[in-house]
Amino acid sequence: MEPLKKEEERSLNFIEEIIENDLKSGKHTSILTRFPPEPNGYLHLGHASSIWLNFGVAQKFGGKTNLRFDDTNPVTEDTEYVESIKEDIRWLGYTWANEFYASDYFDKIYAFAIQLIMQGDAYVDDLTPEEIAEQKGTPTEPGKNSPFRDRLPAENLELFAQMKAGKFEEGAKILRAKIDMSSPNMLLRDPILYRIKFAHHHRTGDQWCIYPMYDFAHGQSDAIENITHSICTLEFIPHRAMYDWCIAKLNLYPSHQYEFARLNVSYTVMSKRKLLQLVNENHVKGWDDPRMPTIAGMRRRGYTPAAIREFCERAGIAKRDKLNEISLLEFCVREELNKTSFRRMVVFNPVKVVITNFTQEEIFLEGENNPEEENSGVRLLPFSKELYIERDDFMENPPKKFFRMAVGQSVRLKSAYIVSCHGIVKDAEGNILEIHCHYIPESKSGSDTSGLKVQGTLHWVSIKHALSVELRAYDRLFKMENPAIEEGDFKQYINTDSLHIISNAYAEPALKDATESQRFQFLRKGYFCKDKDSTDHKLVFNRTVTLKESFTKEVK
Ligand code: ATP
Ligand code: MG
Repeated sequence: MEPLKKEEERSLNFIEEIIENDLKSGKHTSILTRFPPEPNGYLHLGHASSIWLNFGVAQKFGGKTNLRFDDTNPVTEDTEYVESIKEDIRWLGYTWANEFYASDYFDKIYAFAIQLIMQGDAYVDDLTPEEIAEQKGTPTEPGKNSPFRDRLPAENLELFAQMKAGKFEEGAKILRAKIDMSSPNMLLRDPILYRIKFAHHHRTGDQWCIYPMYDFAHGQSDAIENITHSICTLEFIPHRAMYDWCIAKLNLYPSHQYEFARLNVSYTVMSKRKLLQLVNENHVKGWDDPRMPTIAGMRRRGYTPAAIREFCERAGIAKRDKLNEISLLEFCVREELNKTSFRRMVVFNPVKVVITNFTQEEIFLEGENNPEEENSGVRLLPFSKELYIERDDFMENPPKKFFRMAVGQSVRLKSAYIVSCHGIVKDAEGNILEIHCHYIPESKSGSDTSGLKVQGTLHWVSIKHALSVELRAYDRLFKMENPAIEEGDFKQYINTDSLHIISNAYAEPALKDATESQRFQFLRKGYFCKDKDSTDHKLVFNRTVTLKESFTKEVK
């Protein structure tokens, strides 16, 4: 993978080019974008791309970005989601200029509907949703006009007022725009503007029983806020005509819609509806399960805002759908954590080593926190007669070029001494209970005068100082590269073996004070962070990513 480019070396994406031209030509003197989530779930990596784009372009060109909750569907929305969305955007490193809610505009949008009715551009229809669908025609055949299409404005105004007053049942009447039932764009065949819904709204409560459709709320909200560039995903291309129609008919601020391809990432799904199913049906342990592609899940897993932003930058924005490799995100997080994370030693599968010539109670050595960062300091590493090393760092009958521990061989213990192995103790079944070594006092790391050269360096912990920790390693959540496009229910492609728990690992004592926001490299093992399930008695760490790219499921 290519090394990171400096900001000024990066070329503009197509949206940035449009904005640059609009500023140069004087079409706009300042830029205002918006990020418009529907509060019906937690944000995912796809949203991160939209956030990065909307906030990023505004920042680049000295503009601003509004956060607008697109809360026009009362049924699926919830304040829990509103709070999580705000937390996630802040965590990604972005600040919005204003916090707005489409529901704040319900009065204005209602007034727009009245205006269209008075102009003869909208009518109340008594057809059922099924009848409307039937009369819509197909892309090659024109639709049929509704028998209610020619109602006069006065009658429409009266009926619409009654809809608002709760006089009709759900589905009994709707408000439609009067455009063109033979338009090649199906979305212009008299689209629905308002429907009756007796539902409690998370902000407006029971004040309304009619709610505007997306196409009659989104563009209007953009125009009310004077959004210059309204950026959305490709599936909204056919909606653009309606967006422009409303702005023209209502004579509103001319916001303009631009589309880019949704971000898709391999081995996961990227739709709130699907992610909600994973949560509700207990395939994962919640929205913030570290296997989830949600911002909350990625944060808990140890991904960093900078790595996610870098991933969005490198994945870029496209005009056509494509699948991005999850390994690109892993690459970005490794790059960052290698530079910034503290090094710590944790033994995953312990075997005991006895330093037979070590006669002191304990000594405290120093280990660099991060060799990549000059001023990162050191931590104390207790060393004593009994240590743990990884069971597979010892071999009884080693092959040639096995540079780890074996009887008659010497290795260095990281930040400590060279030790030379002279025997083992086994139980009746032949299992190794202890490995016996001598240590070379003159070989202390940093002041080695022993003149000895060894090829292997092992991580270790002092048994009596070690913390017992649980480690959780995560594999891909799905077995298929693109589960969303496979046949049948996407859930049949779930990898049922995506969580690996190691409950008997031992960590050096410096990890006792770890916080959830810190990131660590466990030497030779991977990048980890403390999980919120940790207690005073047991620390739990999540593996963010392995040290190197690998598809292996094995957690050593
Ligand atoms: P989902 O299907 O996951 O519910 P959505 O598009 O319905 O996604 P919204 O809350 O309506 O979710 O989206 C807020 C913004 O984020 C929209 O502008 C939408 O286009 C954008 N967005 C959502 N998913 C992606 C994605 N995968 N890639 C890029 N942008 C996305
Ligand atoms: Mg949506």
